[in-house]
Amino acid sequence: MKKIITVLSIISLLLLLGGIYLIREIDANTSRFDEIIMFHQVEILREHLLLNIRTVEADLYSQNMPRAESVDTVVKHVRETANAINACFHCHHSEDVTDRLLDLKNQFGQYGHALSRALTMRATAGRLQAEQGHAHLIGDSLISKLNTMIVMTSKMLAVRTEDSQRTVHRTRIFLIVLVAAGPVLIMGLAFIVIKGVKRPVEVLLEATRKLKAGDLDHRIEGLRDEFAELAIGLNTMAGSLKERLREIEESERRYRLLFESAGDSIFIVDAEGKQTCRIVEANAAAAKMHGYTVDELKTMNITDLDSPAAAACSPSWIERMLQGEWINVEADHRNRDGILFPVEISAGAFEFGSHRYLLMIDRDITERKQAEETLQRAEQLRMAGELATGLAHEIKNPLAGIKVSIEVLAKEPYLSEEDRGVLVQVIDEIRRIEVLMKELLNFARPPRPQFVSTDVNAVLDAVASLVRQNTAHAPEASRKIAVMKDFDSRLPLITADPMQLKQVFMNLLLNAVDAMPDGGPLLIKTWFDAAAHAVRVEISDTGRGIDSAVMDKIFQPFFTTKPKGTGLGLAISKRLIEDHGGRIGVAQNAGGGATFKIGLPVIQSERVHTI
Ligand code: ADP
Repeated sequence: MKKIITVLSIISLLLLLGGIYLIREIDANTSRFDEIIMFHQVEILREHLLLNIRTVEADLYSQNMPRAESVDTVVKHVRETANAINACFHCHHSEDVTDRLLDLKNQFGQYGHALSRALTMRATAGRLQAEQGHAHLIGDSLISKLNTMIVMTSKMLAVRTEDSQRTVHRTRIFLIVLVAAGPVLIMGLAFIVIKGVKRPVEVLLEATRKLKAGDLDHRIEGLRDEFAELAIGLNTMAGSLKERLREIEESERRYRLLFESAGDSIFIVDAEGKQTCRIVEANAAAAKMHGYTVDELKTMNITDLDSPAAAACSPSWIERMLQGEWINVEADHRNRDGILFPVEISAGAFEFGSHRYLLMIDRDITERKQAEETLQRAEQLRMAGELATGLAHEIKNPLAGIKVSIEVLAKEPYLSEEDRGVLVQVIDEIRRIEVLMKELLNFARPPRPQFVSTDVNAVLDAVASLVRQNTAHAPEASRKIAVMKDFDSRLPLITADPMQLKQVFMNLLLNAVDAMPDGGPLLIKTWFDAAAHAVRVEISDTGRGIDSAVMDKIFQPFFTTKPKGTGLGLAISKRLIEDHGGRIGVAQNAGGGATFKIGLPVIQSERVHTI
């Protein structure tokens, strides 16, 4: 930039000096031409004077001739000549010229005097001739002097004219040079400017492109002047940007670590617009807890993870959060396999870049709930145990007596068939009460499992045959149940009580049969889960399924939907499986029906944590 200003200043100065020089030259030439014109005027005056003197001389010569001018005419010519000489004094002359003019004037005075004598004297012809000769002499001298002056002036004029022509020529050349050099100079300057600016601009452009592409290590070097200052500015900016970016990345890493290593599920959920409820971000714990990958979760809505009951509550929770409330609620979430598990949700809304999101922290409270349930069940068991023991003492013996008595009575031959039918019905009901009593006692005070090495496939086989036999006498529809087995032949033996497992599987299969009044396929599947070191059993029926509203109640004691059910089958099964260190759960089948899932540890000292 400084260079450009300097060059521009030099060019402007040169043009200014050239202009001043030109004006001065034109002024000088003009005055020179004025002078030349003046000299020409003087020359004309002198010529005129010379002509006047020559006329007078001619008048004098012609005096003796017949066509001589009159004396008056001669006097007139002399007077005109005198006037012409006097006119010369009107101009400014040098001292030398003025001296010469004065000399000329004196001599002309003498000439006039000599003329008047020659023209007016009355004398002899000889004397007149002498006077005329004298006048001629002076006249000739005047003519000679004037001629000399005219020659000198002509020479001087020629010199001056030549001088002026030279100056004009010089000025013309200078003007041509100026006109021709001006554009060349400007083009040269433009070239220097473009050349000087092009490279730094290219370097700066390249640097900004690299910065834009994220290359914050790029530094600009080798520039000078203002470009160097600009480069320093850009380099410093890139440096501080990099530092800022590093700080942001570090902070991002810290928060990500916090986010990723949290034991609770953390979700960031869209809270407004078309994508409301869409999961924007989820941590690894959320993925693990729900059985999806983080990427899969990000394609889902948070409500996809809710149980139907929780999904029904979601809109009101979201509303409360958007009004600024931080909510703490308990709900059930559903994992990939459709299994529900309880979560404690701590959530609130926040704004980020003029868009609102929900931050949700979900804690799996299965264990806490289980502990609560265990406590509750222990309480129920204690009560049931007390009840059962009381009943056993108070009811069992009288009931047995009643049963025997009625059985005896029913065999009396005098009884009508109708009365006998009533007594048989009473005996059946008493048997049902006895079964309930037995189950109650079993539930309240279950026998300790006798662990032995057990083949789960063999136990299931035996139970399946029993069920088949059972359904052979059952109604028509039940007989249409097709029990299918998909057993893992490499299933390891496990330490378990085969009798208790039999009880559990029997219970599940009979429930399945109950759920399929119209018959259908019933699949029993086993496989070895190497990761959990457990044997997995799945019993899938194609029955009416379990209503989602009662899904979490079916394992509770005394919960039944059957008119003659005890509601203790699943409660006892759950208890027995848990006594084996295993887990039992249920899921709705997509195509209808329910699947009961059991996980049993291969070794008793181990526990199964997932279903
Ligand atoms: P009970 O069979 O005496 O009712 P259970 O504890 O065995 O007691 O079962 C509790 C309830 O669970 C049943 O009443 C029934 O509503 C439900 N249930 C159990 N198994 C199934 C099944 N396979 N399909 C549908 N509902 C079932």
